[in-house]
Amino acid sequence: MPTIFPRSLIGTPEPPATRPKPGAVRYLLGHFTGVGLPLTSRYRSAADADVIADARTVAQFGISSNRPWEYNWIIGLNGWVFVQAGEYLSAHCLNFNAQSKAVLFLNAIGVPLTPAQIDAFRELRHDLVLRGELHPDHHADPHYMYRTTGCPGAEIATPPGSKWNSPTGQGQLGQLRSELLRPWTPPAPPPATVDPPVEPDPAPILEEDDMKPRMWRHADYQNVFLIGSGPAINVTPELAKSYANEGVDIIVERHPQMLKGCMHQAGLDETDLLPWPA
Ligand SMILES: [Zn+2]
Repeated sequence: MPTIFPRSLIGTPEPPATRPKPGAVRYLLGHFTGVGLPLTSRYRSAADADVIADARTVAQFGISSNRPWEYNWIIGLNGWVFVQAGEYLSAHCLNFNAQSKAVLFLNAIGVPLTPAQIDAFRELRHDLVLRGELHPDHHADPHYMYRTTGCPGAEIATPPGSKWNSPTGQGQLGQLRSELLRPWTPPAPPPATVDPPVEPDPAPILEEDDMKPRMWRHADYQNVFLIGSGPAINVTPELAKSYANEGVDIIVERHPQMLKGCMHQAGLDETDLLPWPA
């Protein structure tokens, strides 16, 4: 499960119980904020506090424009998911709301998808099928395929192509970026830390050429994470050594945001950090 926050966190009211809950719909549409003015600093930072503030801005805008449940879910630049309409009917695409659900990517124009957002979207889709909110044979498509709009922009989808015979009578052909369309693969369980160490699985989550697992560590800390597919996994020094012998690269850099992301995904907190010996 991606990290999902309830409506209350962003100030979105609970929908009335009478609001429809469309069942296993066949379309999931991707949207963006459409905000790109150089004057705004919104939708550009992946810091947790900024992402929450940005999600609240969207929620408040929805309330003030009489569409408090415009999108079903909002995905921040740090990969956090916020419920807006959730399982209830949303209001994101004229003449197509009952047939579809919507994800808003909290990106300003020109701000690319982050790996955390890509993973969150893939995992959310997987989850929604299991929960019966999306049909197993659903399509995940850009907003512009069902409405004359540039949404969700070049960072999230291919440029709109030719007009097509869409179910709404509007729209252009195209697709969400291919990274978003890869099926979710649940990550391997964390390696056992029994003594003596068990024979490690050399490539627990290798599935596609460009998703080769790699190890990563912050230059100032000993903690090593396996990254590249699914959430980061914390690996023991012994396992890190044997992965290195198997040819898994290790990246060492001084990147606090990456460290924070890995720690969060691996379920660690600051007390787990081991400083690199001076
Ligand atoms: Zn849109």
